[in-house]
Amino acid sequence: MPIRKKVTILGSGAAGLTAAIYAARANLEPLVIQGLQTGGQLTITTDVENFPGFPNGIQGPELMEQMIAQAERFGTQYIYDNAESIDLSKRPFTIKTSSEEILTDVLIICTGASAKLLGLEAESKLMGHGVSACATCDGFFFKEKKVFVVGGGDTALEEAMFLTRFATSVTVIHRREAFRASAIMVERAKRNTKVEYLLNSVLEDITDVSKGEVTGVKVRNIKTNEVQELPADGVFIAIGHQPNTDLFKGHLPLDENGYIKVTNGVHTNIKGVFAAGDVMDSVYRQAVTAAGTGCQAALEAQWLLEKEEAEGEMGKPEEAKAGAGAVREPAKADSLRS
Ligand SMILES: Cc1cc2nc3c(=O)[nH]c(=O)nc-3n(C[C@H](O)[C@H](O)[C@H](O)COP(=O)(O)OP(=O)(O)OC[C@H]3O[C@@H](n4cnc5c(N)ncnc54)[C@H](O)[C@@H]3O)c2cc1C
Repeated sequence: MPIRKKVTILGSGAAGLTAAIYAARANLEPLVIQGLQTGGQLTITTDVENFPGFPNGIQGPELMEQMIAQAERFGTQYIYDNAESIDLSKRPFTIKTSSEEILTDVLIICTGASAKLLGLEAESKLMGHGVSACATCDGFFFKEKKVFVVGGGDTALEEAMFLTRFATSVTVIHRREAFRASAIMVERAKRNTKVEYLLNSVLEDITDVSKGEVTGVKVRNIKTNEVQELPADGVFIAIGHQPNTDLFKGHLPLDENGYIKVTNGVHTNIKGVFAAGDVMDSVYRQAVTAAGTGCQAALEAQWLLEKEEAEGEMGKPEEAKAGAGAVREPAKADSLRS
């Protein structure tokens, strides 16, 4: 027998869990299909110092455990699995995991994104201990430190310039002579005298896993094959992000980088399907913005269901309609504040 839900949320990062908290407090008894990374990206980092409410910071995994418990307290149910297939052609929508079939009136997609990594063993072992994939998040921890940034696109150069606010030296490691970044970004970075470059070079290894911290980098020049060992306090991997949207190809419009396209904040082009967090946001990519859009998606879901209930449409199977706009009526927003 399929599980029948009003609201199903894919993903248990900051976006999915915030959507769950709001939907659960609206008595919608949401189901969260957690995916295989319970708690999302913040579970692979250590100190989170920019999430409001924690003046002394909080460990990423602890923050996510608290969000899980908070959503559970109001009646959220969880399935620990990936969604493996979806059918969005008619409502209720169908979601299949390896062992369950779920029919749902509303689907909130919060499957996030993954920072692309180089695949070095030391990189994953030292992630959150001197290795980072987010300068906005972790730059502050590198005051008066020596850091390296890997990458040659706009993000890498932007992160390198941002890091010069804190670090004493910032060196960009890039495998080619020329940058993929836009000319204007290259120009700006070159004007910043605190940024240095190791071109035609690749990061071969990061030391020292046995000490649990970054003490140095091994960099190979791909033209000469010469390997240099350089002291380092931090390494930022800035080679891009991959939205987790394979499942939605052919079902929902994606932009040229694979992010789900939304209008009016969190609406996809299918009525009843919303997207929130890093899966639709290639710009801000922060826990608090993911949580913010998760909240928006849950409220939009609630208003849609209330409107349909009032109009007697609830539970009626229908062909999913394209071009759904916001359904909020202004008066409703006030009645929700509690
Ligand atoms: C190392 C690191 C440090 C960071 N530090 C900070 C910080 O200090 N402050 C800050 O604000 N931000 C930080 N960020 C960014 C922050 O983690 C993200 O912006 C935030 O996690 C996005 O939340 P999300 O819910 O959109 O997605 P994610 O956290 O990416 O969660 C995605 C969820 O979707 C699930 N999922 C994926 N595929 C499926 C599927 N097929 N079916 C079901 N579920 C699926 C996953 O299991 C996961 O639970 C950091 C990121 C990284 C990588």
